[in-house]
Amino acid sequence: MVLPRPIVFGNWKMHGLRVESEALAGALAERAKRLTATLGVFPPFTVLGEVAARLTGTGIMVGGQDCHERPKGAYTGSISAAMLRDVDASAVIVGHSERRHGLGESDALVRTKAETALAEGLLTVLCIGETEAQWLSDETLAVLDAQLTGSWPAGATAEQVIVAYEPVWAVGTGRTPALDDIERSHAAIRHRLQRLAVDGADVAILYGGSVKADNAAEIMAVPGVAGVLVGGASLDAAGFWSIYQAGGGA
Ligand code: PEP
Repeated sequence: MVLPRPIVFGNWKMHGLRVESEALAGALAERAKRLTATLGVFPPFTVLGEVAARLTGTGIMVGGQDCHERPKGAYTGSISAAMLRDVDASAVIVGHSERRHGLGESDALVRTKAETALAEGLLTVLCIGETEAQWLSDETLAVLDAQLTGSWPAGATAEQVIVAYEPVWAVGTGRTPALDDIERSHAAIRHRLQRLAVDGADVAILYGGSVKADNAAEIMAVPGVAGVLVGGASLDAAGFWSIYQAGGGA
């Protein structure tokens, strides 16, 4: 099933103890009476099960922020795709810039993680994005093309994978690209997707990087933008709900 647009996902990153996470999930559940678009949250592993339980029946998706590239084994401290499913997550983020650049994850590793997640039936949110240096030296489109080609899971379809374009220099900085630049990057991603997937024209492409309630509407109106992946601003239920509404969600 292709998800209703806009698609608004919140990445809680390493924020939220149980009491805060349950409160945030509860505040979203109260607002989500009958979703007309797609809303999802990606809490820390420790609270995933509780958040998923709190959101049962609301239509709000719940996913993990990462998974290990192997299905199981002696990988101390890691979380498998099956473990995410086991606590009722239906999606996972792979290739977030905080893992690619902070932890040195390569395209090949991200691709293996995506393939493992798909084998477990998880909707996979595949993040790609250029660094500030690459942006300044006008390498953005080439970098996006290489990352997408290198990390796209073999044989994946539009029902299985969502691409999130997140310029590294825009994540958590309060800075965003010009709307024209977002459109240009999304068009380039679409161009590559049409060569990577049989239904590449239908793969949803999100924008992520300093999306807030006051810029969400104009970003989601950019041609080719199917929705947004929100970090910091997803930690406040009212603000996150405003972003969802800014895209036309009710
Ligand atoms: C993210 O973590 O994916 C993100 C886009 O963060 P922020 O919205 O805080 O820039």
